[in-house]
Amino acid sequence: MKNIYAVALVTILFASCKDGKTKTETTTENTMNKTENPLLIESKLPYGAPDFTLIKNEHFKPALQQGIAAQNEAVAKIANNTEPATFDNTILELEKSGTLLQSVQNVFSGLTGAHTNDELQAVQEEMAPKFSELQDGIYLNEKLFKRVKELYVKRDSLVLDPESNKLLETYFEAFEKAGANLSEADKETLKTYNTKLATLINTFNKTLLAANNDGALVFTNKEDLVGLTESQLKSLENKDGKGWKIPLLNTTQQPLLQSLENRATREKVFKASWTRADGSKNDTKTIITQIAELRAKKGALLGFANYAEWSLQGTMAEKPENVINMFNGLIPAATAKAKNEASEIQKMITKNGEDFTLEAWDWNRYAEMVKKEKYDLDESAIKPYFEVKTVLEKGVFYAAEKLYGITFKERKDIPTYHKDVMVYELFEENGDQLGLFYADYFARPSKRGGAWMSNFVTQSHLYNKKPVIYNVCNYPKPAEGDAALLTYDEVSTMFHEFGHALHGFFANQEYPSLSGTAVARDFVEFPSQFNENWALYPEILKNYALNYKTGEQIPQALLDKIKKAGTFNQGYSLTENLAASNLDMQWHTIAANANVTAANAFEKDALHKTKLDVVSAVPPRYRSTYFAHIFGSGYAAGYYSYLWTEMLHHDAYNWFENNGGLTRENGQRFRDMVISRGNTVDLEAMYKNWRGSDPKIEPMLKARGLK
Ligand SMILES: [Zn+2]
Repeated sequence: MKNIYAVALVTILFASCKDGKTKTETTTENTMNKTENPLLIESKLPYGAPDFTLIKNEHFKPALQQGIAAQNEAVAKIANNTEPATFDNTILELEKSGTLLQSVQNVFSGLTGAHTNDELQAVQEEMAPKFSELQDGIYLNEKLFKRVKELYVKRDSLVLDPESNKLLETYFEAFEKAGANLSEADKETLKTYNTKLATLINTFNKTLLAANNDGALVFTNKEDLVGLTESQLKSLENKDGKGWKIPLLNTTQQPLLQSLENRATREKVFKASWTRADGSKNDTKTIITQIAELRAKKGALLGFANYAEWSLQGTMAEKPENVINMFNGLIPAATAKAKNEASEIQKMITKNGEDFTLEAWDWNRYAEMVKKEKYDLDESAIKPYFEVKTVLEKGVFYAAEKLYGITFKERKDIPTYHKDVMVYELFEENGDQLGLFYADYFARPSKRGGAWMSNFVTQSHLYNKKPVIYNVCNYPKPAEGDAALLTYDEVSTMFHEFGHALHGFFANQEYPSLSGTAVARDFVEFPSQFNENWALYPEILKNYALNYKTGEQIPQALLDKIKKAGTFNQGYSLTENLAASNLDMQWHTIAANANVTAANAFEKDALHKTKLDVVSAVPPRYRSTYFAHIFGSGYAAGYYSYLWTEMLHHDAYNWFENNGGLTRENGQRFRDMVISRGNTVDLEAMYKNWRGSDPKIEPMLKARGLK
């Protein structure tokens, strides 16, 4: 996932740079002198990396307030300028107006995602509506829009370089999308919607974090946990009391369900996950229906049939119909394969001498047995070859070196916000500095669920900035002294997130708003998913899949088995993904006057009418009540993007396969023509130019074993 957690539609205005003016020290609530606040002064660390030895909780609120005030002041100055509008005095100034705020927000959203606490959460809650007001103050400012529109209309006569022209177009479209063309009265209504939405989203996130933590199950009887290894048990030891504590991870299925032998325990763990925010004290049902209804009203106010239609403007998919068509093309094949998998699993249950009907909480355990039997592949036989740091350095980094020529050096001297975070410096093939990379891989209660990438510092030539990028994952932390061993899925996630990182590192843009990953949602997952392909590439795999005890390379036979089992369980995984994607689309295509009385009934109906409930043991990857992508972050009406870009990445990898695979030449061509371009060119045309044709769905179906 690309982290667009703290980001509303219009954050493209914010840029990270050093020359944010702070003329606002008189702000009433702010008594802190700017020289005392490390967030308000240029970091002395390499690449302008945030200095976590100096940054304290209490620095954020005043810094954010100063950033907002500075941006408001800069925007007012542009809007009230009596000189005729020019690119420099309007668009460029707008691009620079949020520099201070963005640099503070980069650190703030990094910490609130990966290492939050009560104090930061309180600041988040207090500031959420203020960010929304700020953005409305910019995008619904009539005088400002008049200047932008004036320039946009005569853009052909301005003789701008292509990137500046694209920046002008991007701003104009963002103003239009945000409602700049509305009447003054409608603008006021929109502002109240936006402020309320920002608060609700923040409440959802806070409630969900509590739901995940409170939903953890404590077991005091060791027999309930039969199937877990001694090392797993050790890492689950309950620090707050007796017994063992099984934490809840963000998806419906929980990793330990694969190993737990006691069926009653499995059911308990699954149900804790399923009901974490439904009927518990951290119930989100009312919050999500309010969010969906308010978004529907917003879509209508802006002149669209529903929120999704409004939201999909400027994406590759363009319209909800195109997304739904893609779903409909996949649902029959996906559910048919899931049904086959379910019957194979049911047979395995019987063969195992047991007599019950397969339920969702049994799936992973018996699927694992089928996998063992059918492919003779055992997850626990693989894990010793996937030690976290070896996978990173000899797998993820090695692939990037082979393709793009870049090299890596660990930096122990750069301060981090948590001791588990590792830092690396990246270099070009010729030795030039490329940027800083933070890897934060282990789960902890202060971290939200999932995996994501974002920037502490965004690349831009305008400010002479090189990127500082982080990846965050939620791998189970091993007990002290034990090796951190990954499943193949977790290995794949590491390659994925680093694909986002490469998109950010190879950015080569003048303007931060167009830099790197600042692209449409249904393109942003393409470089990341594409990077997953290298995890199984023989030359890469042989280099990193080394036994953590002996250093021995993974045996060829095991490697062949991993490949062969590659399409196993794809019916399940595609169906659970389609179910979640469909829930997202349906919540965001309700009409403006819709009154969703019961979230659970809505969810049930949404799955039923799309025939995604035909295999009852395959629940949605996320249930509405804990679907943070769509109710707590910027992926509303956008979860489909993962499937959309899946089509792109298989198609792209197919090109590599037909053109010599992993070579420096192929990597460089891909970097030059695709991943270094940020949002400076039409993405569809860019892809076609590199590929030589439009993307096709066949490679995806083949990879999923559906064809
Ligand atoms: Zn991603």
